[in-house]
Amino acid sequence: MALMITDDCINCDVCEPECPNEAITMGPQIYEIDPHKCTECVGHFDEPQCQQVCPVSCIPFNPAWRESNEQLMLKYEQLQAAAKN
Ligand code: SF4
Ligand code: SF4
Repeated sequence: MALMITDDCINCDVCEPECPNEAITMGPQIYEIDPHKCTECVGHFDEPQCQQVCPVSCIPFNPAWRESNEQLMLKYEQLQAAAKN
């Protein structure tokens, strides 16, 4: 399951540099997470790093993106392979 950023985001800029997959970018109004790049930090860390640092707790799991641990690991491996090209 990818994570998502809600309207409660205060654009504090803290989460963006913490994402190991560069899945977080500034959108038109608030920060956004690309669900194709978010692995819940699987492959990098035990916990979602963005959730750990967000001061207003506005990064829940995205119910539209349900994925198993195996699928998240596969996504991680595909992102790693793409980064090498
Ligand atoms: S959970 Fe991890 S991979 Fe997903 S957006 Fe947050 S920091 Fe990035
Ligand atoms: S850490 Fe939270 S409040 Fe700060 S930019 Fe990221 S989502 Fe928004």
